[in-house]
Amino acid sequence: MPVKLAVEVCADLRTAAEARLALARPYVAPRRPADELLHELQVHQIELEMQNEALAQTQIALEESRDRYLDLYELAPIGYMTLTRDDQIAAINLTGATLLGEERSKLLRRRFARFIVAEDRDFWHRHFMRAFRQDGSTTCELTLQRSDGTFFDACLDCLRSSSDDASTPQLRVAISDITARRKRNEEERRIAAIAFESQEGMMVTDPSGVIIRVNNAFTQLTGYAADEAIGRTPNILASGRQSSDFYRQMWDTLKACGYWQGRLWNRHKNGELFAEWLTISAVKSPEGQTTHYVGAFSEITRHLEAETEIHRLAYFDPLTHLPNRRLLLDRIAQAMAGSARSNASGALLFLDLDHFKALNDTRGHDVGDQLLLQAAQRIQQNVREGDTVARLGGDEFVVMLLNLSTDAHEAAAQTRLVGEKIREALSKPYALDGGDFHCTSSIGIAMFRHHEIAVDALLKNADLAMYEAKNTGRNSLRFFDPAMQTALEARSALEADLRLAVSRGQLQALYQPQLDDAERVVGAEALLRWQHPTRGLVPPVDFIPLAEATDLIRPLGRWMLEAACRQIRDWSASDATRHVIVAVNIGARQFHQNDFVDDLASIIRETGADPARLMLELTESLVIKDIENTILRMQQIKALGVALSLDDFGTGFSSLSCLKRLPLDQFKVDQAFVRDVASDGEDEAIVRAVVMMGQILGLEVIAEGVETTAQRDRLREYGCLRYQGYLFASPLAPGEFERFARAQAGG
Ligand code: C2E
Ligand code: MG
Ligand code: MG
Repeated sequence: MPVKLAVEVCADLRTAAEARLALARPYVAPRRPADELLHELQVHQIELEMQNEALAQTQIALEESRDRYLDLYELAPIGYMTLTRDDQIAAINLTGATLLGEERSKLLRRRFARFIVAEDRDFWHRHFMRAFRQDGSTTCELTLQRSDGTFFDACLDCLRSSSDDASTPQLRVAISDITARRKRNEEERRIAAIAFESQEGMMVTDPSGVIIRVNNAFTQLTGYAADEAIGRTPNILASGRQSSDFYRQMWDTLKACGYWQGRLWNRHKNGELFAEWLTISAVKSPEGQTTHYVGAFSEITRHLEAETEIHRLAYFDPLTHLPNRRLLLDRIAQAMAGSARSNASGALLFLDLDHFKALNDTRGHDVGDQLLLQAAQRIQQNVREGDTVARLGGDEFVVMLLNLSTDAHEAAAQTRLVGEKIREALSKPYALDGGDFHCTSSIGIAMFRHHEIAVDALLKNADLAMYEAKNTGRNSLRFFDPAMQTALEARSALEADLRLAVSRGQLQALYQPQLDDAERVVGAEALLRWQHPTRGLVPPVDFIPLAEATDLIRPLGRWMLEAACRQIRDWSASDATRHVIVAVNIGARQFHQNDFVDDLASIIRETGADPARLMLELTESLVIKDIENTILRMQQIKALGVALSLDDFGTGFSSLSCLKRLPLDQFKVDQAFVRDVASDGEDEAIVRAVVMMGQILGLEVIAEGVETTAQRDRLREYGCLRYQGYLFASPLAPGEFERFARAQAGG
């Protein structure tokens, strides 16, 4: 039974849809007409039931959807209403009613304009008419007044729509409360306005650079009132101090980064220039278009002036306004880098005015300054534009010549030419207050190329060459020579060692016996020796001049005096040595020290030596240097009970009249005359004259460097009765000296 079978099949299936699917399956058994009809009816009934079920479902969905819509409409966060052509409220949602502060039922058919504050009503009316004319939505902002009299700011979005009756269009309006937003905007505007009126000058321009707004500070800083500036471009402030390149770069940066800041000079309305620090920012729309430029600036003229002054003080000499040492060193470093690129040589000329100190001391610093200014001018006139003339201080100038030949010899020749020109210019008379003045200069030159040498070493070389120029007679030019450098380095190493000699106990005093006619020991010359840890025994000629040239002679001289005085004290205990007069050599610098006499007195006191046994040897050149002061000092020494001898006598040029004034006890004939006294007619005459002079002046005469008996005999013949020399003994250590003295005394 096919139908039953089908129903049974259907009963097995859980839903109508499944049944329908089952029925749709082909059934291949033969059918009769009544069966077929019944089957069709049954199928139809099932289909109807299915349709009913779908309808009920749809009904439920529809109701749900309407509820949702009502929820959405009524309780939306913004108000919705529909206005008729004559501004009557045709419909309004709950939110809208709440916003207007009225029950919905009371709002319908009321005119909306009633809720608009009086000031905004005209505006609303115009907007309302336009909204009806226009396709698409329109927006306006108004202040509304609720039924209870309170106010709120609203934004209305209006869209014209056709009602069911197409001929009567209506306006759908969305109302949102923007009171909070407006308040916030208002606040921001107020803050911006205050910020705009800051201490900084501010201007706002449109994208083409036309000023649309300025603040009070702008007016104060530029002199232009707002109405004078607005409508014009910042060009009104142009000073002409910046190049067009400067402005082009500024605009390039502004366009690329939307921001620029920097320093520039502008012109005040009154014509005065001022420096400002300017910051420009581009204001952009959300789409990225520049809508405005905002420029903020502050005046920095005073700041700049101070900066310039600081720079001037740091890099320039205040008297001549020439670059100082610091700037010079910078420039040398730059020049070396330049020379490395171009391969061209440069030269450093170290100039020192001869005897400038004397002028300064005798005629005063003002006159000295005048001379320096004129000298600076003359130097500058003799160099090229790119060359540097610097003043290091005092009377020292340095000239740096650039871009000389790539050939070293030719470069040196070029430099010599410039150097000679400068030297000549400087040697012309100077017109100074109180008369003309002549002054020469000594110039030392050091050449440079690439980075062969450090900057300060180069400067030092030029300085050394200048000293050489001075030593070789001044008013001359001298090139630095590397051999000179080696010698000087050795000298400075020696100086460093010598500084330690006293504290490390490396000094030693030897005593060379002085004998009388009967070959008895009557005196001793104290001679200094330096026992150097690596060089061995260093003779005084190798270090005394160095000590004299530096302040080292002071500790050295003091050490020697102390040693000699202690020796006198020690020898006073022995018969063989008690009477020995110890002679100590005193250098010029040591002698002229202010506290020399005080030092001497305290050494004598501290050692307990008998001053009558001490003699100081001074040289002729020392004595004639500053004769008046020297005599005074010699008298002070004599007053202590110490005797004085004139060493190396005959080598200087002292006149008899001068010698007569000196409080001396002894002449010491220089060994140069003694050497040839037995053979050379001229020296013989000198020795005779010296001895005679001594006799006339009532002084003792001693000969040093006596090496042969012939010399001794001849000296005795002329009347010289005291002798010192290798013939008798070389300089001896104290113990040896004592033995020698005893032997001579026949003990
Ligand atoms: P000076 O004062 O003329 O000393 C004499 C020098 O002649 C000494 O040389 C001595 O050793 C040397 N001499 C002695 N007998 C003979 C001789 O028969 N033949 C020759 N050819 N020479 C002889 P020394 O010790 O080398 O001293 C050299 C110079 O160094 C001294 O010349 C003196 O000017 C200086 N000197 C030495 N000690 C001191 C010192 O303590 N202080 C100072 N300021 N200068 C000193
Ligand atoms: Mg001597
Ligand atoms: Mg001598």
